[in-house]
Amino acid sequence: MIPAVSQVQALPAVSGMPGAFLWVTASFLGACLGSFGNVLVYRLPRNISVVRPRSHCPACGAPVAWYDNVPVLGWLLLRGRCRRCRAAIPARYPVVEAAGAACLAAGFLRFGWSVQGLAGGLLLLILLLIAIIDWEHMIIPHTLTLAGVVIGLGASPAAPPGPRAALLGILAGAGIVLAVSYGYKLVRGRPGMGGGDVMMMGMLGAFVGPWGVPAVLFAGSLAGTLYAVLWGSRKDDGAAKLPFGTFLAVAGAAVYFYGGEILSWYLNLF
Ligand SMILES: [Zn+2]
Repeated sequence: MIPAVSQVQALPAVSGMPGAFLWVTASFLGACLGSFGNVLVYRLPRNISVVRPRSHCPACGAPVAWYDNVPVLGWLLLRGRCRRCRAAIPARYPVVEAAGAACLAAGFLRFGWSVQGLAGGLLLLILLLIAIIDWEHMIIPHTLTLAGVVIGLGASPAAPPGPRAALLGILAGAGIVLAVSYGYKLVRGRPGMGGGDVMMMGMLGAFVGPWGVPAVLFAGSLAGTLYAVLWGSRKDDGAAKLPFGTFLAVAGAAVYFYGGEILSWYLNLF
């Protein structure tokens, strides 16, 4: 959780580049990823292919031209309406694009121009997409969690927690949720958590390592419980349901970005 300096590796491509150029490039890339994220948020829970058909207006079917698809700017220039039929384009599209830019920038801001900065930014964006999808559909798509596992494992030789801890983290994260869900089913006769939760904790384990897993689970459960107490949980077939993935997303981001700080603050309480 606490980065060991020897494991933090700078991105080779950025040395000598002016800072402003790097921030603009990272933000633009993040906005483009956010734009693709909009496609994922709409299509993954509906089981529509994410590559075909090309983006089109849901009202009139007109394909979106590349110049109208430029992140944030396209929506602003169209003033939020389809070029052909003038149907409203939800403000969520530019918001998620801007959030994509913010996610990537946040990774580099927190961890520098390093492999960890890139991995952290991508993790943040994946968590944002999972949070939205789980909130709206109670689904955590395997496509997103698998992408996260690949990024976490891929970055681990050059970023905390390191390759060994990343592997152990995946096993710990998925294993604990699997065990809890199995135990819950034995006691209550119905599944408490699904395969999506198992995969998501496995993914987070790749980033926070085995020792970060209990922290994420604790913080996620705490956030979910607080939400249920304050605003109540949704009823579905008589059973209370919470989009646990949304709370795990917030907890995972907090632990990956500020785990060390949170831990020392917590220990200082005693
Ligand atoms: Zn249209």
